[in-house]
Amino acid sequence: MKDSNTTISQITLLKQKLHSAKVSLDELNEDRNAKLQTLLQFIGNLSLACKGQNLELDNKLAKLRHNLSTFERLDDALPELVEVERLLKGQYHHVMGKLEESRAGLSRVIRQIQRVDSAPDKLKREVKYFKQELAKPFHTVWDYIPKVEQLVSFYEDILAQQFETGEKLSVLPKHRQLGQELAQMIAELDFRKDQRDQVLVIKEMLAVDVEVENLLDAYQTILSLLMDNIAREKSASQEFLYALNDALSAVREVVSDSYNHAQRSHQLRHQLNREIDNRVDCVGDAVLDTDDLGQLKAQITEHLASLRAVLARKEALEQREQALLRKSMETMRKELNDLSEEACNYKERLFEQQKLNLLDPLTQLPNRAAMEERMELEFRNFQRNKHPVWVAVADIDHFKSINDNFGHSTGDKTLQVIAMALKNSLRDTEFVARYGGEEFVMLIPDVSANDIEQLLNRVREKVKNIPFKFKNQRITVTVSIGAAQIMENELIQETFERADAALYKAKHQSRDRVIIDI
Ligand code: GH3
Ligand code: MG
Ligand code: MG
Repeated sequence: MKDSNTTISQITLLKQKLHSAKVSLDELNEDRNAKLQTLLQFIGNLSLACKGQNLELDNKLAKLRHNLSTFERLDDALPELVEVERLLKGQYHHVMGKLEESRAGLSRVIRQIQRVDSAPDKLKREVKYFKQELAKPFHTVWDYIPKVEQLVSFYEDILAQQFETGEKLSVLPKHRQLGQELAQMIAELDFRKDQRDQVLVIKEMLAVDVEVENLLDAYQTILSLLMDNIAREKSASQEFLYALNDALSAVREVVSDSYNHAQRSHQLRHQLNREIDNRVDCVGDAVLDTDDLGQLKAQITEHLASLRAVLARKEALEQREQALLRKSMETMRKELNDLSEEACNYKERLFEQQKLNLLDPLTQLPNRAAMEERMELEFRNFQRNKHPVWVAVADIDHFKSINDNFGHSTGDKTLQVIAMALKNSLRDTEFVARYGGEEFVMLIPDVSANDIEQLLNRVREKVKNIPFKFKNQRITVTVSIGAAQIMENELIQETFERADAALYKAKHQSRDRVIIDI
């Protein structure tokens, strides 16, 4: 009995313990569920914060939020969690990669800003500091946004400054071409001594990469220099014509004065001669009519005295005439001297003008001075662009025999026709000058080593096919050509010498051929 009572009380105790354990467990469960609920809510909110970055991730997170909303679907949510975790990791790497790309992009932009030379020094210093800051990696999008804002403010500063100082126009290929054309034009013209400094500044400016504003200024300056030259030339011609006119009027006046004087002198002399004749007749009559010697003596003395007076008047008249003639001659001589001096000046100016144009008067091709200018230009272009530039020297074969057989003026005509043929066989960008006598120099840019021989042979053939006919005789005139390409580390004069040596070879290989120095 005692044993059964002990057992009952033990069972009761156990029951109580079990009950209190169950209560504790319930309490624990409740607590855990409350915490789990908070955690699930937190996960739900977190997933909402991630929304909007990646569509696939958004879909997965929406499904996850749905499954986490009730405990019953918690088991379904577990595999989703693994997938979402994978996507989140991927998204993290994607975002970091994008941030790095953005940083590189900003660095590129900042380098461009650094190239704006006209930016004020303060801005340049800020940009430099900003560039150093950009070397540090971005950790979040929030690192990126202020940098972009800063960059925009740099652009605003530069724009504001450019508006203040006048906006710079961007240089287009057309502008570069205009620059080159102007340089070419300047090379073909010459300017007065007092204009040369101005022209030199423009030449140097055109030799480097030109800015649009400077190009416009350069065109304007050259135009006004040329207008000034034209105006001067016009007034020089006018001055000369006025001087010529004045001199002619003076000479005409002198001539007409002399004529009037001569007329008057003639009448006077005629009158005086008559008076003399009269006096002589009177003396004759007196001798015949008078017997009284004393009276005759007195009469003759009187007649002789009046005869002497007439002769004295006649001599005075002649002296006056001579003086007037001397004076007229003197005036005319002076006028003619002045005129010839004026003509000399004018001739000199014309000669200067000829030089100004740098054209050879016979062939109207650029002359040697123009060629030297152009050579310099082509050489500078070569140094800048490294494109091929050829110097070719052409010499007419046996030209002397044309002069000898058909005369110098036929020789001149031949030179003119050949000059024209050379010019017409080249493109506008190519250049030909009369170097001297019967020699021409061509400057040919942008033609490859493979094509130059063919090009020059075409030029040679063109001359050969000119149908010359002298004294009813069909004559073929040929040229020999030597050419060389400007090489690195070589002066253009050395290129010219190589081309000339090639021409020498062509002459020795029976002429009428092209030799390229290679
Ligand atoms: P080669 O084939 O060796 O060149 O013989 P070539 O006779 O052409 O050469 P050379 O140098 O012996 O003679 C050139 C001649 O060109 C001599 C000169 O009188 C003539 N000449 C130079 N300038 C002029 C010019 O302006 N007019 C004329 N008519 N002849 C000229
Ligand atoms: Mg010669
Ligand atoms: Mg010759």
